Amino acid sequence: MFKSSAPLEKIWTGAPVSNGVAHAVVHVLKDQFDEPDQDSIMPDMVAAEMARLHAALDVTRQEIEELQRVMGGESGSAESEIFETHLLILQDSTILKQTEKTVREQCVCVDWAYYKLMCKHMNALRGLDDAYLRERFLDVKDVTQRVMRHLRGELMQHPMFDEPVIVVAHDLTPSDTVQLDRSKVLGFAVETGSTVSHAAIIARSLAIPAVVKLHGICEELHSGDTVLLDGEGGLLILNPTAETLARYRSREEQAERREDVFQLERHAQAQTVCGRPICVGVNAEFVEEAEIVQDCGAEEVGLFRTEFLHMENPNATEDDLAESYSRVVRSLAPKRVVFRTLDLGGDKVDERLALEPEPNPFLGWRGIRLSLGLKPLFKRQLRALLRAGMHGSVGIMFPMVSGVQEVLEAKAILSECADELTAEGVDVPDEIEVGAMIEIPSAALSADLIAAEVDFLSLGTNDLIQYTIAVDRLNDRVAGLYQPTHPAVLRLIGMSVQAARSAGIRIGMCGEMASDLTLTPLMIGLGLNELSVASTQVARVKHAVRRLAVKECEELAALAAKQTSPTEILHLSRAVAERCYPELFE
Ligand code: PEP
Ligand code: MG
Repeated sequence: MFKSSAPLEKIWTGAPVSNGVAHAVVHVLKDQFDEPDQDSIMPDMVAAEMARLHAALDVTRQEIEELQRVMGGESGSAESEIFETHLLILQDSTILKQTEKTVREQCVCVDWAYYKLMCKHMNALRGLDDAYLRERFLDVKDVTQRVMRHLRGELMQHPMFDEPVIVVAHDLTPSDTVQLDRSKVLGFAVETGSTVSHAAIIARSLAIPAVVKLHGICEELHSGDTVLLDGEGGLLILNPTAETLARYRSREEQAERREDVFQLERHAQAQTVCGRPICVGVNAEFVEEAEIVQDCGAEEVGLFRTEFLHMENPNATEDDLAESYSRVVRSLAPKRVVFRTLDLGGDKVDERLALEPEPNPFLGWRGIRLSLGLKPLFKRQLRALLRAGMHGSVGIMFPMVSGVQEVLEAKAILSECADELTAEGVDVPDEIEVGAMIEIPSAALSADLIAAEVDFLSLGTNDLIQYTIAVDRLNDRVAGLYQPTHPAVLRLIGMSVQAARSAGIRIGMCGEMASDLTLTPLMIGLGLNELSVASTQVARVKHAVRRLAVKECEELAALAAKQTSPTEILHLSRAVAERCYPELFE
C-alpha cells in the first residue's frame, strides 16, 4: 500500500465578520517595514540598482512637496521646516555616495544598502543627549520609511495578483485595503481585527467573506496555499478535502435558495406592518461599488466614506475628485448620495500626512479636526463635492464632530468654496444638504445645538460606542465590553433622535449597529426611520422592517430603557426579532 500524499487539512477558528464562502489560493501580506533581504547582485548591476534608488527618491521628493502644498504651511513655519529637513535628508549627497559604495563593494541590492545606512544614522541620533538632535531621529525614520516603500514599489502600484486570491494578513489597515487590487480579492483572513474594524466593514461592502482573530495564520500560511474561507462559521481551512468541499457546496446551494426569497422584494420601499416607511440605505467606500449599490436595493447611499478614495490617490487634484464623485452621483441618480468629508486619522492613516505618530490617534487629529487644520485639502474636497452636486442629489456630512463650533467653521468654509466657484463661473447647486455625524458623546449631548445648524444627523455608532464606553473598537482584549446595547449608548441615541425631531430635521444611523438584524426592532422603537447598512444586509433589513409594528417596537424601547444590563436589552430585542422574522436567523 502506498501512503496518500494529499496535504493534510487544517482548520483555524476565528470570528466571522462578513458572510460568504471563498475557495482559492492565499496571498500573505508582509509587514511593510521589515528589514529588506540582503540580496546579492552582479557587479554590472550597480548602475541599475542606483537608478532604482534615484527613482524612489524622486517619487518621495514629489510626495513631500505635494504634502507641503496640501498642508499649506507658511514658509518658515514649524511644519514647513519639517518638510525642508525631510527634503535635505533625501537629497544628502553623502548618503547617496555611501550607499553606492556599499552596493558596489559588497555587491548587494540597493534596498539593503540604503536601509542599513539609514539605520546607522537613526541609531546615532537616538543616543544623543541633545533633544533637538534626538528629534531628528524621527525625521530620518520618516524619510527612510517613505523611500523604502517606494523602493519596494508598494505605493507606486497596487500589489498585483495574477489570479483571484484570499488575502491573509496580521493586521489589515484601511490603507493596506485601498492598495489591493480589489477586483481579484475573494476574501480577507486576518489575525487581529473586530466586527467594526474597517477591513471588516469593507469586506461587507464588497460582499466578500472575511474572518478576523485567526491567530497564527501568518506564521503557517504561505502565498500559494489553497484554503477555504467560511465567513459565516468563522473558519479558515487549509487544504480542504473533497468531502469538506462537497459539504460546503451543498450548504451554499441551500443558503442561496433561502437568500433568493429575501432578495425578491429588495427594490421595493420598506414599510412596517403599520405603514411607516423606513428608508434603507447603503454604506460605500469605492467608485466601483456603484453596481453593487444599484443591485442591492438600497434607496440611497447614506454614507460614502471618502477617505478610502483619498488613500487610493492622495495626490488627486480637485478635477480628479470632482470626476470620481460625479461618476458615483451620475451612476446612482436619482438616489441621494451622502458623502462624508475625509475622516482621516484614527486607524485611517495617510502616512504622507501624519507628521509624527500620535500617542492616542483615536483621540487625536482625526476627521473634521484634521480637515479644519488642513484648509487647502478640505477646500479641494468641498469644491469637488459642490461640483459633483450638479449631477444629482448630494449631501455633505462632517465626521467626528465634537461640538457645534466645528460645524459652523466647516459650513463657513463650504460657503467660501461655493462663492469662489460661482465667482470663477463654475456651476454649483443652489442648495446642498449639510449634515453632521453623531459619533462622539459630546456631539450627542449637544445634538440640539448641532441640529439647529444642519439639515440632517447621522449616528455613527461604531465610534459612538467606543467613545461612550471608553473601549477601543479594534482591541481584542476589551472586545467583550464593546456593547451596542449599553444603556448609556441607547440614551445617547435616544437624545439625538429627540433633538433631530424637535429641530424638524432627519436623523439616520450609519454605524454597523444599523445592519444588526437583532437590533432592528430596538432601532425603530427608538424612533429611527433611516438605516444605512452594508450592501449585503439591505434586502434582509427591508425584510425585517416589513414584519415589525412600530407600536411593539416602541414598547420594546420603553422596556429596554428600564433595564440595567446590556445583555438583557439585547435578549429583549432579539426575542422580538426572532418572533417576527425567524427565517432570517436560520
Ligand atoms: C461610525 O463610526 O459608526 C462610522 C460610520 O464611521 P467609521 O466606521 O468610518 O468610523
Ligand atoms: Mg466613525
